[in-house]
Amino acid sequence: MIRAIRGTRDLLPPETALWNFVEAACRDVFRDYNFQEIRTPIFEATELFARGVGEETDIVSKEMYTFEDRGRAESDRGTSLTLRPENTAGVVRAYIEHKMWERPGVTKLFYIGPQFRRERPQKGRYRQFYQIGAEVIGPTTAGSESPARDAEVLEMLATLLDRVGIQNWTLELNSVGCANDRPIFLQALREALKPVVGQMCYDCQRRAETNPLRVLDCKHPEDQPIIEKLPRIADYLDEGCKTHFADVRAILDAVGVPYVINDRLVRGLDYYTRTAFEFTHGALGAQNAILGGGRYDGLSEAIGGPKAPGIGFAIGEDRLVLSLQQQQETDAMVKKPDAYIAPMGAGMNKEAARLARELRHHDLTIELGDETFRLKKSLETAGKLGARFAIIVGENEAASEQFALKDLTKGEQVTVPRNQLAARIQSAR
Ligand code: AMP
Repeated sequence: MIRAIRGTRDLLPPETALWNFVEAACRDVFRDYNFQEIRTPIFEATELFARGVGEETDIVSKEMYTFEDRGRAESDRGTSLTLRPENTAGVVRAYIEHKMWERPGVTKLFYIGPQFRRERPQKGRYRQFYQIGAEVIGPTTAGSESPARDAEVLEMLATLLDRVGIQNWTLELNSVGCANDRPIFLQALREALKPVVGQMCYDCQRRAETNPLRVLDCKHPEDQPIIEKLPRIADYLDEGCKTHFADVRAILDAVGVPYVINDRLVRGLDYYTRTAFEFTHGALGAQNAILGGGRYDGLSEAIGGPKAPGIGFAIGEDRLVLSLQQQQETDAMVKKPDAYIAPMGAGMNKEAARLARELRHHDLTIELGDETFRLKKSLETAGKLGARFAIIVGENEAASEQFALKDLTKGEQVTVPRNQLAARIQSAR
């Protein structure tokens, strides 16, 4: 028995209807905000993530699916490839590779697709998971650095969650500073960590050396009292970052998007500067972040591109679907057949197929039976599938072009001419 790999899963109907609903709703919202779709490859050069996401992040240091290309060509051999653990680095790589800054205004892109991280699987955390994300990126002259961009992205997310039907979300907001004030904060953090780091978890001891900002991200309960006493980023922001953050908040206040400030929020990726955020949802338990994102003003340059400030986010689609399932009865989202066609007797599969083709042209959902089924079995099957009508196709019906149409919710049966069948079924929708 071969099973799906740990941390991966099959998405089955009826749940897939919910996934489609979520994706369609997001696409609608992206269109309203003038975002366009991008699809990047599922694997990229390992170096992209090492440089983009950051060597010292959990993602790059321990969670990536990395392998060596064993292609025959000399140029393939030995290339280190990685299944993308996130999509922002890929999008920014594509932005650079295709010189998208030559396009007018800021570039606004969205993506929907699988990502891969070797994390410990649990509810809401998988090794193949799906993200719906968006990026706003562009030259400074196009306004890519403006707080208006941050606020628009956050307001779009509030709209998106409301439209999908997520109730009671919380927007947690922080500013993590920039290349200007970060070194000063890191220095203060290192100093403060020196006397206490010995009492912290192994990961924190490592991070204190390599990337002290990450210490603030630690989830170990025993470390929390120590972290509470560490310096706060807010006290170290330079004037530019302070004003930028104040402006983002002022626009959010003006448009009525509620938020809470969480000055411990640093996010798990190195590229973030200034605005960082998460939307959380109580019903999700330990893995309560539905989405996360932030500004990444230096990312393009870090991977060899021009200066191109940007801001983006990724929604955990698995978690979004999970919260919807916990909130509401989602069965109604599954489309049931409008009609079940029951061919009666040998040779009637052809007539039934013709009729099914005609009705499907009218955008009806048709389930097709088989001529070997007796009437009783056909009607039972139609009922179990939740079809609204059954259409009986026997020799007489085919010859006279008049079909027996049985309403399976009311139990009534009428004879309907072929050319009126579709309209009749549609009118019952
Ligand atoms: P990140 O790319 O780490 O900023 O994460 C953005 C969002 O993706 C998170 O808020 C989660 O909703 C989702 N996410 C990240 N990792 C996983 C995972 N292993 N399984 C499911 N969802 C995830």
